[in-house]
Amino acid sequence: MPCMSDTRKAASEHTLRAQQAARETLPPDDRRDFADARRGLIAPLDPAPIIGRRPACLGSRALHCVSRRRRLVPRQRASGPLAPGATQRDRRLFEVAPGVHQIRGLDVSNMTLIEGGTGRIVVDPLISSECAEGALALAARHLGERPVTALIYTHSHADHFGGSVAVLARAAASFEVVAPEGFLENAISENVFAGNAMRRRAAYMYGALLPADERGIVDAGLGKTTSSGSVGLVPPTRTIAEDGESVVLDGVTFEFHLAPDTEAPSAMMFFLPEHRVLNVADTAVASMHNLYTPRGAAVRDALLWSRALDETCHRFGSRADVLIGGHNWPRFGTEAIVEYLDVQRDLYKFIHDQTLRLANAGQTSREISENLALPATFARFWFARDYYGTLSHNAKAVYQRYLGWFDGHPGTLHALPSAVSGPRYVDGRCRCHADEVACGIRCRRVPLRRRRADASRLRGAGECRRAAASSGRFRAAWVSIGERAVAQLLSDRRARTS
Ligand SMILES: [Zn+2]
Repeated sequence: MPCMSDTRKAASEHTLRAQQAARETLPPDDRRDFADARRGLIAPLDPAPIIGRRPACLGSRALHCVSRRRRLVPRQRASGPLAPGATQRDRRLFEVAPGVHQIRGLDVSNMTLIEGGTGRIVVDPLISSECAEGALALAARHLGERPVTALIYTHSHADHFGGSVAVLARAAASFEVVAPEGFLENAISENVFAGNAMRRRAAYMYGALLPADERGIVDAGLGKTTSSGSVGLVPPTRTIAEDGESVVLDGVTFEFHLAPDTEAPSAMMFFLPEHRVLNVADTAVASMHNLYTPRGAAVRDALLWSRALDETCHRFGSRADVLIGGHNWPRFGTEAIVEYLDVQRDLYKFIHDQTLRLANAGQTSREISENLALPATFARFWFARDYYGTLSHNAKAVYQRYLGWFDGHPGTLHALPSAVSGPRYVDGRCRCHADEVACGIRCRRVPLRRRRADASRLRGAGECRRAAASSGRFRAAWVSIGERAVAQLLSDRRARTS
């Protein structure tokens, strides 16, 4: 797979300024996340690389990345950590409560292990078989070799079932696979029906082609990075269809709490009353999550999500000593758990309510995402910051859920495709800085005017968003009419305007 390392540049002064501005908004006195991320460490995975069957297997790449990233951590600390990149530890086994362990940093997601009466229960087997096998081997080395008596999928996303085939090799005779209602249908719907498009888009979203260093990928917010090894799906043998259902698996009691149409269309959390451990899956992570994921998926329901967190807090908050999830690190202590769930609930409710308030006041999706700001009360929590989802994307997601893609502006109802409008921007006949449809409707007969707003000049001036829009139009023209024709258009334009 090609690497983009040859096109990378050092951070511009504008980027450095933006980073400094972000650093000044951090809550420096609250160190709980940093302590929680390290608590209960048993051992790292050693040796570092997992070599998969495929040469470019991400199991291998991820761990190489992680090894290199470790050297970056002190530097990040020295300048004040800006993101979970300095907090998330690499490929390590942790004890979160007696009999409950997690392997974190081996993939973008966590694997949780619960000791049962006759074997080990696995919760969410990472993305790839290679990483799942590495995690199980690490556990066997430090916790003892035990058969896997049950596999639990918390929800229908590939980062929580992709490594399931590796679990089969260690399965006990009485092996069960437990999933929430609708799991298989939704796993197929999201990952197969639109699978090709989603995988392509995910490669950009997670920076799969970027090297792992300070100019490449440092962290993915939810975890270190996604793996790209062998992905499989072992179908469930038992479905949790009733909210509040209590099930005993290998001697361990699980109280399941269904949370459909929150972070995933089919999802559940569970509480372990004997351990006082609450697993909230992906409904609460150490960051603002995505209501819309740029890899592409149906937008999520912020209102249902917020209600599910409220329900979780009421039902289990005061009974839990430890909260764990599908990503990032745990929360310890009932007070911290209740605060965490309350703030996350309020975060998604705020985005939902305020987006609709502004939409009802007449603002479009883009305007709302530009104008909406979080109240200062959220800024003091590391886990409410936009390390994964962003307020901008999430406001657009709420708008889309209620009002769809059309923003109400007649000019965007039947927009020209980029392949048509792109060449018009390149030849200079369009001076509109909005979007393609404006080119077709308003600027078709605009007199030619010299416009040297090329991407590199814009970037140099710190106008990265305009530079990205300009680059997109050039790319559309290149795809539409070819490189030589684009060069000819640029040459003609120079001749006309000189
Ligand atoms: Zn996940």
